[in-house]
Amino acid sequence: MKKISNYINGEFQAPQARKYLDLYNPAKGEVYAAVPDSEEADMEHAIAAAKAAFPAWSKTSKEERHRIMMAISERIEANLDALALAESIDSGKPLWLAKAVDIPRAASNFRFFATAAMQFSSESHEMKGQAINYTLRHPLGVVGCISPWNLPLYLFTWKIAPALAVGNTVVAKPSEVTPMTAFLLSKICQEAGLPAGVLNIVHGLGHKTGAVLSTHPDVKAVSFTGSTKIGREIAKVAAPLFKKVSLEMGGKNPNIIFADCNFEKMLDTTLRSSFANQGQICLCGSRVFVEASIYEKFRAAFVEKTKQLRVGNPLEDSSRVGAVVSKAHYEKILSYIEIAKSEGGTILAGGNAVQPDGLNGWFIEPTIIEGLSNDCRANQDEIFGPVVSIMPFQSEEEVLGYANGSKYGLSATLWTENLSRAHRMATEIESGIVWVNTWLLRDLRTPFGGMKDSGVGREGGLEAFRFFTEAKNVCIHYGGR
Ligand code: NAD
Repeated sequence: MKKISNYINGEFQAPQARKYLDLYNPAKGEVYAAVPDSEEADMEHAIAAAKAAFPAWSKTSKEERHRIMMAISERIEANLDALALAESIDSGKPLWLAKAVDIPRAASNFRFFATAAMQFSSESHEMKGQAINYTLRHPLGVVGCISPWNLPLYLFTWKIAPALAVGNTVVAKPSEVTPMTAFLLSKICQEAGLPAGVLNIVHGLGHKTGAVLSTHPDVKAVSFTGSTKIGREIAKVAAPLFKKVSLEMGGKNPNIIFADCNFEKMLDTTLRSSFANQGQICLCGSRVFVEASIYEKFRAAFVEKTKQLRVGNPLEDSSRVGAVVSKAHYEKILSYIEIAKSEGGTILAGGNAVQPDGLNGWFIEPTIIEGLSNDCRANQDEIFGPVVSIMPFQSEEEVLGYANGSKYGLSATLWTENLSRAHRMATEIESGIVWVNTWLLRDLRTPFGGMKDSGVGREGGLEAFRFFTEAKNVCIHYGGR
């Protein structure tokens, strides 16, 4: 059976205690590889390697860092098929999706931040006749990057690339549920000539490995994407140590559909924003609010299209919905379908576990529920599966109350052709991202992150560079005495 290795100080290493965890193929429900169950000692070793590599990497020219990161990006592209296959087997997501989205985006992350760092400049502030201030931006040192299982290589590289580009060294902890492409990335980094210790990848359980990053004195910042529960734990331990912390967490995003929308475009996109990646995207719109005058029309069309989505073998092109990531997650999603029923919800489509194409894995039909109030558990808790709730509304004011009636504030989607309303609503909605007449369209220069329990801090573009650097003001007095 294939055994994944840690990548520490430029070398592939077995965990010191030689302990491993089972790695599952969610489509088959079977163990197919082993991932290190690393201990604190492995993390200590990785942090020491990153610390030793920092002086040289932070002084490496921007051009050289750019060259190496572009080489990594090109190798990710050259290995598109192999990486996409690995991602699909590891996570249950359709292979075509990994090929079209996850892996190309991982290559873009390296390319984007490598290039952006070449343009990253600091400010100066003149005090006429007296002094000039200028801002220096220093890399922090060793930083920790912790990522979740839903977009494994995509989010892993989204954190690592900006950190490296501005001269930090990194200890990264991918999800133990989907570690395979992070392991393949370590090979790519080695081949691309990334110096030893600049990026270290330690596999294992969050509370044993990731937690070390939040408390270790040599780790200056932690960039985390994952659940609100774990984000809170990290904040609790990292805050008294004055570490910089960026937390990208859960969501329960509203998808707001007004009667004046472009119906066909909205319907196609709503299918994706509801069920793409089995609903396991933090930005999926799981609370669907529809203006009452088109509610019946929408319900009929949405149910019909949803029933046509083929749940099947992730490796087949015709499968629109693959497997959910793990048995525990599968059980959680199914339990929420039961909760929704007990809260008065009616299942309009799906609602069941299925075993398509002779596979014995963790598949759930795309599920639409109606009849729930916005404040019930099924509409307030993050289910993070192929399950959406549809609800009618009468007025802008009413739907704004529903949209903001959540502890989360990650993203929102608005469907309307009324320009004034779009601007008005976009201002009022409490979320880090508002999409109007689109979904998941991302310009990597824009700030990315959540409000309320969805996040602290912003990633993307210059925001990421600001997070991964420390600003220092230098004030030079040149006036008279
Ligand atoms: P999770 O919080 O369980 O785990 C995320 C990562 O944290 C994993 O690598 C895990 O091993 C690690 N971890 C666990 N305990 C830790 C600890 N005590 N200290 C440090 N690290 C620890 O999340 P998940 O189940 O892997 O991912 C799903 C969640 O991620 C959902 O809530 C989803 O909304 C969220 N998410 C958010 C975004 C965003 O950009 N806001 C993007 C993707 C996913």
